[in-house]
Amino acid sequence: MQDLTPDIWALLGHTQALIGIYDPSGRLVYANEAFRTTFFIEPGETPLWCDLMRRNYHAGRGVRISHPCFEDWLQSTLSRRGKVASLSAETDLLDGRWLWIVESTMPDGFMLFVGTDITRQRCSQRELRQERDIAVRFSQIDPLTSISNRRHIMDVLETVLTTDVPPSRPLGSLCILDIDLFKTVNDRFGHVTGDSVLVDVARTLRAGLRTCDALGRLGGEEFMVILPGVGAEAAQPILNRLLSLISHSCKIAQDPDYVLTCSAGATELQPGERSDTAYSRADRALYDAKRGGRNRLMLAS
Ligand code: GH3
Ligand code: MG
Ligand code: MG
Repeated sequence: MQDLTPDIWALLGHTQALIGIYDPSGRLVYANEAFRTTFFIEPGETPLWCDLMRRNYHAGRGVRISHPCFEDWLQSTLSRRGKVASLSAETDLLDGRWLWIVESTMPDGFMLFVGTDITRQRCSQRELRQERDIAVRFSQIDPLTSISNRRHIMDVLETVLTTDVPPSRPLGSLCILDIDLFKTVNDRFGHVTGDSVLVDVARTLRAGLRTCDALGRLGGEEFMVILPGVGAEAAQPILNRLLSLISHSCKIAQDPDYVLTCSAGATELQPGERSDTAYSRADRALYDAKRGGRNRLMLAS
């Protein structure tokens, strides 16, 4: 078997299927020749998935993205990417080819991408399937912020809670984050500004998270963050950094001195527990953070 290993690599390298492997942070750590040529990657280059998509989008090559705003498309795709064990979809390339894509994600966050050229097999059912994919996508995304909506983030939480991890490894952490005195933002600057603050906070949170982390809007000015595989202790600096990112970079044009803060409650996920049990624990910690004076993270006891 050992002797076969180099042959297997050669086989992966030369197959017509597009093969790529991403690490948990979304970095492309392996790509075969077909993948590299299709997505314009130099030999030895290991770009992040979002950088690769952005670069190809601006160069007018790679995947055809029909969404009117590329960054919104990226945001909503990141909300879904790497959150389920297996995801398959049809996609078209700007060079006219069609691909059938299967993305398989391991519990540790590594993702295998396999793309097959199905240009010749395209059939009249194509539009129907694409419309169905779009409908599914819309049912999972919050229309204002383009991140996961409540239903989708709760589904992700359920998936993380039922992931098989060795007992020695943490299952993950859950955090509920709520903008402080948001009613004041609306009252002082108007609802339109309030809405753009929500969009800005969602973007800032997404930018501060790994691809395998999940982010959703629970409703109003309340967000949920799930950090798979991260225990409570390790989650603390990550979440504190997110709070500080928001107060430093989410600015209000009408009053640049206004400092937007958030309160957050976090808890480590326990194997086998129900999602609403973990949710209530994090919510109580959030309540303690508010009662303790806001602008802080509290861990559930
Ligand atoms: P606290 O620090 O205790 O969380 O105070 P708060 O003012 O943030 O909380 P409160 O629950 O009193 O007010 C939340 C406000 O969020 C009230 C509601 O009008 C506003 N809100 C909810 N959804 C939206 C939305 O989609 N857009 C805008 N602009 N405002 C929203
Ligand atoms: Mg609030
Ligand atoms: Mg609230």
